[in-house]
Amino acid sequence: MKLTFLGTAAAEGIPGLFCDCRVCRNALAVRGKEIKTRSQALIDDKILIDFPADTYMHMLQHGVDLKNIHTCVFTHSHMDHLYERDLWCRNKGIGNEIEEIPLQLYLTQAGYAQTIDYMEKHVNADRVQAHLIVPFVPFLAEGYRFIPLKADHDQKADPVFYIIEHEGKRLLYANDTGYFPEETWEYLQSYGQCFDMISLDCTGMLLENYRHGHMGFSVNREVVARLTEMGLCDERTVKYVNHFSHNGGATHEEMVAEAEKYGYGVTYDGLEVTF
Ligand SMILES: [Zn+2]
Ligand SMILES: [Zn+2]
Ligand SMILES: [Zn+2]
Repeated sequence: MKLTFLGTAAAEGIPGLFCDCRVCRNALAVRGKEIKTRSQALIDDKILIDFPADTYMHMLQHGVDLKNIHTCVFTHSHMDHLYERDLWCRNKGIGNEIEEIPLQLYLTQAGYAQTIDYMEKHVNADRVQAHLIVPFVPFLAEGYRFIPLKADHDQKADPVFYIIEHEGKRLLYANDTGYFPEETWEYLQSYGQCFDMISLDCTGMLLENYRHGHMGFSVNREVVARLTEMGLCDERTVKYVNHFSHNGGATHEEMVAEAEKYGYGVTYDGLEVTF
């Protein structure tokens, strides 16, 4: 499986739209991996995870063949993960000379309701279709198996993160969550399979007080320790931290220096990981 990180920041991006803090000033000066856009990932060039407003920029910067992508799964309804208004661009007369295969969206209740409401008024029903998904109920898309797990995040946004399986490979893609809810730990216990790759929310970077809603690096290590104890993670598991906020207070370079002491990678926009 190949996972491409298209956007690796929290809602405001790094630099933040209206911010002049040390991390944001550094990002503007250094650019490269220090610049991080809103969260989105791509599996094997064919399945998107989330659809923020920065999707258009990701298409331009990373050569994403958006018109030929027919599946997008969503973590939750926050605007940095779901910008349904851009779906209008797939309408007849706007998205021209494309294959008549609808784009299939998979969303939990809050995002589903929000998207359906917009699509009924503004989007051709045969160009984009939405499906309601439920935590802990696996579903298949493009031959990949997705298991949505409950996240510790704003519950109004019906947040989930995912186990994704394909051809014997297993990915745990977990951002916009704090330390996992016990319900999710119970599911993972019964799941019992070792992950080939895990990607964890690191919004708070090196700060110690990010445990609920999002995580920091010290809580990431607690999650990995518990997964390891349960046999769901071992030394062969590729480990990355992802989804960063400037409010975490560290630059990409500073984050890398700390993470590599523990054998973790730090995501950046455009990073491809094959496992
Ligand atoms: Zn987010
Ligand atoms: Zn800032
Ligand atoms: Zn969120």
